[in-house]
Amino acid sequence: MSTSRPPDRRSGLPLRARLATTVGGAAGRASRLAGRGDGSVIGGVIGLRLKPDLLSLLARGRQIVLVTGTNGKTTTTRLITAALGTLGQQIASNAFGANMEAGLVAALAKAPDATMAVLEVDEKHMPAMLEATGARVVTLLNLSRDQMDRAAEIWLLARRWRAALAAAPDCRVIANADDPLIAWAAGQARKVVWVAAGQRWHDDSWCCPNCGSHLRRDGEDWHCGECVNRRPPVSWVLAGDEVIDPTGRSRPLDLILPGRANRSNAVVALAVADVFGVGVTQAMSAVQQVRSVAGRYTQIERRGCGLRLLLAKNPAGWLEALDVLAPAPVPVMLAVNAQVPDGKDTSWLWDVDYRRLRGRQVFVSGERRLDLAVRLEADEVAFRIVGTVDEAVDLAHSASMDVMANYTAFQQIRAVLGRSA
Ligand SMILES: [Zn+2]
Repeated sequence: MSTSRPPDRRSGLPLRARLATTVGGAAGRASRLAGRGDGSVIGGVIGLRLKPDLLSLLARGRQIVLVTGTNGKTTTTRLITAALGTLGQQIASNAFGANMEAGLVAALAKAPDATMAVLEVDEKHMPAMLEATGARVVTLLNLSRDQMDRAAEIWLLARRWRAALAAAPDCRVIANADDPLIAWAAGQARKVVWVAAGQRWHDDSWCCPNCGSHLRRDGEDWHCGECVNRRPPVSWVLAGDEVIDPTGRSRPLDLILPGRANRSNAVVALAVADVFGVGVTQAMSAVQQVRSVAGRYTQIERRGCGLRLLLAKNPAGWLEALDVLAPAPVPVMLAVNAQVPDGKDTSWLWDVDYRRLRGRQVFVSGERRLDLAVRLEADEVAFRIVGTVDEAVDLAHSASMDVMANYTAFQQIRAVLGRSA
């Protein structure tokens, strides 16, 4: 009986918004039953059509954290949710990466009693989502080329972020000081917590975003030779395997999730948790236990072979993913597609250095496997072309294998391996 339920947040919404979340929720459930993904996006789309300002209505009265950047959004969202989870409150989150307005609406509508929300946001939509949600915290991870057909946009994005953050004086910004574009984007925000989260990929930040001159680098430090733009002073530092907190105390950061990029995401999560009063020790114990993020990093048994899935969507992502590969001779399968969500142009493959794959078994798959094959040949990496992940498993005769794939190739492999993946 609906009347016997305790009043939830939805009862405070105007009638049309309540109707929109109810209809949207029903559509989402129908979509899930029909086997079309987790149904969250379609529910949100329908809800928004009935009530265009649904997101701000659903966000009202909640403490909201937005997470954006080119790489690491989904993982960082998961890590922040884990850290804030130690407060014992219910947290709404779009944990599976539906990061446009409809996905945010669905995440909030699904958790009407959650007083907090940690929401991943697509880079392009961040300014609008910040305005709609009145977020308390915005987390800026990094900015680099995602898809070649969007290459020119990152400077424009940084400019839009800068204006949006300048117009949100109450918002606390957690930003990566090691990425000059991020530092510039957050440069006019009123309250910024700077994190030295590192930047492996420098190819999109040779120039000063402020004046266009050449940026000078000295280790992690950077400054512009022509204007005042320089790396801001940091409060949190990732130093190798250690995190240094704002008091200067250093602690080992021992994550289950592999790789430098995830350590960087974890330090950002600790900085966000600190804003909400979660101590480092408490946040760290929660963050360290996260073992998989939306199908990534988990070990899946397939025909006697332990497969580990790694998602890498762009050159910066591939660079980080190549870093976390199991040591040789563990075989590797690389899969590349070029559908719309991946970007149609595969020339970015040439921006990645594959030479470290020499001397191990490499399998190449995906709709654009021939593009990848040409690239590997240029780097003198021996490989075999396969149609499916099972074919690679059968040929590899190995107890384990790493599988690196870009966005839609990753989804296809997950579908083959089953949703348990
Ligand atoms: Zn400059």
